[in-house]
Amino acid sequence: MPKKYNLIDKRFGKLVVKMKGNVTKQGQMWECVCDCGNVAIYRTSMLISGDAVSCGCLRHDPTMKRNKAREAQKVNGVELFRFQNDKAMPFNSTGAKGVSKYLLKNGGTKYEAKIVINGTTYRKKGFDTIEDAKNYRKQLEELYLPKKSQK
Ligand SMILES: [Zn+2]
Repeated sequence: MPKKYNLIDKRFGKLVVKMKGNVTKQGQMWECVCDCGNVAIYRTSMLISGDAVSCGCLRHDPTMKRNKAREAQKVNGVELFRFQNDKAMPFNSTGAKGVSKYLLKNGGTKYEAKIVINGTTYRKKGFDTIEDAKNYRKQLEELYLPKKSQK
């Protein structure tokens, strides 16, 4: 005999149970009102286990949280964390972050260092080696990235 729950007026995340619903094959159903105003119906086990915490609107919240966290990491509107690892983009041709290769008309290869900060691109072409371009890119970072404020 499964335990009988009375969940009425109980809160599960954003859900408040309002009414006992039908008993289905999955068990007792409960009609819940979400903080957003939607009505959602869940079975006992979903509520008790914490699987049901909203009508579904909460699914959007983690991204909002993430965005807030990202917002908090910004310094002068710049997402510093984007610059904190040296990993190059997968489509990067040189394997060095912010460094790309380009071909000269005479067949030679040169490298370009580039940084994009809040939509503004700072770049310099004409490096002979990836290493040179990498070093310049570091300089660009130091020049243009806002310093993290020391609190
Ligand atoms: Zn909701």
